[in-house]
Amino acid sequence: MDFQSVIEDIYQEVLPLSGQGKVADYIPALQSVNPKKLGIAIETIGGECFMVGDAQEKFSIQSISKVFNLTLGIQTKGDALWQRVGVEPSGNPFNSLVQLEYENGIPRNPFINAGALVVVDTLLDDLDRPNDEMLAFVDRLRCSQIDYDEVVAQSEKETGFNNRALINFMRARDNIRHSDEAILDVYCHQCAITMSCAGLARSFLFLANNGVVPSSDERILSSSQTKRVNAIMLTCGFYDEAGAFAYLVGLPGKSGVGGGIVAIVPGQLSIAVWSPELNRHGNSLLGIKVLEMFTTKTGLSIF
Ligand code: GLN
Repeated sequence: MDFQSVIEDIYQEVLPLSGQGKVADYIPALQSVNPKKLGIAIETIGGECFMVGDAQEKFSIQSISKVFNLTLGIQTKGDALWQRVGVEPSGNPFNSLVQLEYENGIPRNPFINAGALVVVDTLLDDLDRPNDEMLAFVDRLRCSQIDYDEVVAQSEKETGFNNRALINFMRARDNIRHSDEAILDVYCHQCAITMSCAGLARSFLFLANNGVVPSSDERILSSSQTKRVNAIMLTCGFYDEAGAFAYLVGLPGKSGVGGGIVAIVPGQLSIAVWSPELNRHGNSLLGIKVLEMFTTKTGLSIF
């Protein structure tokens, strides 16, 4: 299939639709991003790469990092992780506090903020330098030269009152062990990783390849663990819009409030899109549109 012309056509078709969403501004350092940016990148398991627009420009990956966080959590804790966090879609916004109260401090899944904060708490049991180890981990996924945007990390740490509230509510329900500062430092750095669409697509390829990085043959997760991470991406990757994403796109994927989305076609490829204007669920408006058009035009979907 000629993926290059597919994404070039989609790029031209969606460009006129920009201007309908809103760049995330609750993290002050994210406000200044140019809302008109648009990039698309595809990486195939066979090593081909296709790009259009701003596909090589780095941006703040935000909650896309929750997939790396979960993968590290599974590697270090194994199945014991699931005693601390669930695997059900939340049907609530990513930063919601209410569900935690009636479910006794056990977050619904690892892709809402509360769930990712618990996973970070478990990483702190085992990793001495979690921020360095996260960068080293992404490097193993064949995406080198990535870094943290310290301005974004600092900005979120200073204004992350909601995340602090989530941590402390869970601490009150005995589901947090480490200090607020230690957890927020790691969580905010993860969210402040900067990567391009090309880098994101490459780093997610192991999830399309049964847990093995195609270019190095390194196994990151077992086939069974990979199946589970993909299932959680499909059911929880877009918070209270997960159903619509499955309906419109039909692929496991993960979004972030920086405007990025990565999705995988198992056995074939991964695709990343960046467009900073978000819809009311905090997901990239054009990003979803691009992926909907991609699966419609190519017929590639898990359904
Ligand atoms: N850093 C953001 C937060 O904690 C991540 C949210 C997101 O990308 N959905 O609020």
